[in-house]
Amino acid sequence: MSDTLTPMPDACRVCGSRVGLLAAADAGWTCARCGWRLGDAPDADLPRPVVEVVYYLRFDERVKIGTSSRPRQRLAAIRHDELLAFEPGGRRLEQERHREFADLREGGEWFTLAGALTAHIATLRAAASDPWALHDGWLGDAYRRASS
Ligand SMILES: [Zn+2]
Repeated sequence: MSDTLTPMPDACRVCGSRVGLLAAADAGWTCARCGWRLGDAPDADLPRPVVEVVYYLRFDERVKIGTSSRPRQRLAAIRHDELLAFEPGGRRLEQERHREFADLREGGEWFTLAGALTAHIATLRAAASDPWALHDGWLGDAYRRASS
């Protein structure tokens, strides 16, 4: 018997999703978005796990490549049209990408959306079309690691 995606009675404590998988065997809910078990509260004594991401943020024909461990807050403060992708990594990966796409650099962290950068983003998006679902999955993993 396969799992069925269904609305959950409560929102996931990790990512806020209301859709889960109900496994017949243990009759428990698992969040469809981040994989957290419904009812397992993240331990309030644990610090919030840090999930660093490199983000690709489009504004017009340009892309900002930056990094943050709090992308929701960070992205809210940057004028942009669209979040194109996330990649797991911090400052080191960000700087690696800045070097990789140096030919396309317009200034600061902004790059022309063209050529190798377009191809790189397409690869990331092929693996996961919804960057936030991907991010919340990593957050769920980090919570599980922190509490085990
Ligand atoms: Zn969740």
